Amino acid sequence: MGNSVTEPATERHDPECLFCRIIAGEIPSERVHEDDLVIAFKDLHPQAPVHVLVVPREHRRDVTELAQEPQLLAHTATVASRIAADHADGDFRLVFNTGKSAGQSVFHVHAHVLAGGKLAEGEL
Ligand code: 5GP
Repeated sequence: MGNSVTEPATERHDPECLFCRIIAGEIPSERVHEDDLVIAFKDLHPQAPVHVLVVPREHRRDVTELAQEPQLLAHTATVASRIAADHADGDFRLVFNTGKSAGQSVFHVHAHVLAGGKLAEGEL
């Protein structure tokens, strides 16, 4: 519409967001799945033999916001299940850290898929 050169952050893409930049391909990642709604890539600092992050393409802050879109939330869980089946024995832990004191460090919602052997009890 206007003549501004710099587009404001849209609902879909926040140029300041690390995971939006990974989704855009500006920062490399080791992708294991992608479709129209989500991408999944290996965590940089794995906490289990299989540690993959499933991330909606559109910027949403956390799982509370994602829960307003039940189909997208369900799709995120379905993709997580497939990754655990394809990369491990099908057993997995699914973690959404939500908020700073719960350990969320990237404020673009992501499901941690942890799998591949006996997982330790306790914190991620
Ligand atoms: P959170 O702490 O928000 O629940 O999870 C963020 C996760 O993102 C962490 O497990 C961290 O290792 C991972 N991470 C942070 N930066 C990068 C990156 O640049 N690439 C990848 N693949 N993972 C990242």
